[in-house]
Amino acid sequence: MGVTEAAEPHASAAGRAVGGVEEFDVVVVGARCAGSPLATHLARSGLGVCVVDRAEFPSDTISTHFFQVEGVAVLDRLGVIERLLATGAPWIESISMRVEDISVSQRLPCRPGDAGPGLCVRRPLLDTILVDRAREAGAEVRTSMRVTGLVENGGRVCGVRALGGDGRQVELRAPLVVGADGMGSTVARLVGARRYHVVPNQRFGYWAYFEGAHWEAPAAISFERWDDELVIGLPTDSGLYIAMALPPLARLSSFTADLESSFDAHVTASPLVGAVIDGAGRTGRPRGMAGYPGFFRDSAGPGWVLVGDAGHFKDPTPGQGISDALRQGETLAQAIVEGLGGSRALDVALAEWWRWRDDDALEMHWFCSDMGAAGPVPRPFLEMVRAFASHPDGLDPWFDILSHRLAPSDVLTPTRLLTATARLLRQGSEPRAKVMRETWKMAADDVHRKRLRKRPVRNI
Ligand SMILES: Cc1cc2nc3c(=O)[nH]c(=O)nc-3n(C[C@H](O)[C@H](O)[C@H](O)COP(=O)(O)OP(=O)(O)OC[C@H]3O[C@@H](n4cnc5c(N)ncnc54)[C@H](O)[C@@H]3O)c2cc1C
Repeated sequence: MGVTEAAEPHASAAGRAVGGVEEFDVVVVGARCAGSPLATHLARSGLGVCVVDRAEFPSDTISTHFFQVEGVAVLDRLGVIERLLATGAPWIESISMRVEDISVSQRLPCRPGDAGPGLCVRRPLLDTILVDRAREAGAEVRTSMRVTGLVENGGRVCGVRALGGDGRQVELRAPLVVGADGMGSTVARLVGARRYHVVPNQRFGYWAYFEGAHWEAPAAISFERWDDELVIGLPTDSGLYIAMALPPLARLSSFTADLESSFDAHVTASPLVGAVIDGAGRTGRPRGMAGYPGFFRDSAGPGWVLVGDAGHFKDPTPGQGISDALRQGETLAQAIVEGLGGSRALDVALAEWWRWRDDDALEMHWFCSDMGAAGPVPRPFLEMVRAFASHPDGLDPWFDILSHRLAPSDVLTPTRLLTATARLLRQGSEPRAKVMRETWKMAADDVHRKRLRKRPVRNI
């Protein structure tokens, strides 16, 4: 879906102030990867938009920041690629990967017409560029302003109450309030949106930046998974290199007891990342997060809708959240423009968008959760990876999953699973019962997830 665009700069219909209350067409709560791009699309379409964030930008957030072809494509349509490259972030063009005994180095697939393969720009820079873009497009941007309540009328949400940095209460009214306010969404809490497809994370993540890391062009992401360890590293903006350790959750207290030493030992234990940061200087204490369960939330109702992490969070190991927030901003903008423009009823347009979001994200949610799982990689899974990796550029279909060009079920087919199992049984290098148990579990998980798709279990 695209978004109808009006020529910029847009003469905003925003901010009619009546008796201390300001009126807009849409109020967006949260101004990062979901909120600001959505506000940009809406303002370009001629709507009066106010985007509110409690943060003052530039502002950091708990997130690493690799995004791939599909996210780059949206950023290109937003017109910010040059600004992102001006941060010094190189295109991430290839991958060096080791998963147990399988090692692969290859170019990330990039098709004719793609704006670029992947980028990694720290959040204070990325998010500020997105906020600036929204402002330039004509959106009213209010930072240092925390939304504390909703305005409702006859069971419909019709605005927000917010507290400015100067301590003043404001009321921003609109026929639609968008919660783009992250996984702990205030809007979701205030409307009572329930969660479903909840999956606890099995690892925790800590990352830090290094100066003087030595990597050679073309820039590569290094991904290394061995025993129960997982380390990722790649160049980012301003000449820095980010290294990330994702140990199993069971090791959290021993890891954080001496955080800096544990972190350094962990990332240098990865031959791929360790070689790049050998002799480089870490620029600060590692930052991290331990609790990030995956979930979906009820995402639309009378006068409200949730986008980005507010409506759905998935395990961050494969780096999907930023691109998804950007992609959702485009499709949601289309639904809002149609709903507020009268070509479809707003509530119907939003409910359909929510269904699209779930269809778009559900398989990827399970795929990401499997990628972030702790414990040994199931042998049949590893065998499927091995079969692909045995050809030059053979892992393209796996990266096409990450770019939403293929669904996980297009690649991880029952036939491939059975072929991999049969190969393992023929080789006899693994106990037969173990192989059968792992294959059975993978197949059973698949069936269970298909059932959940039809009948999600909802909880708060
Ligand atoms: C450990 C970790 C690592 C990750 N690494 C990656 C990665 O490498 N690649 C990737 O693509 N994704 C990654 N992600 C996911 C990514 O961070 C998110 O998917 C992305 O930030 C979602 O953007 P968002 O705009 O929906 O939410 P957020 O980025 O969380 O933004 C929400 C905004 O809402 C504002 N807000 C909240 N409440 C209020 C309120 N009451 N009033 C006003 N403002 C409010 C906040 O200040 C914030 O600015 C990672 C996530 C985690 C936890």
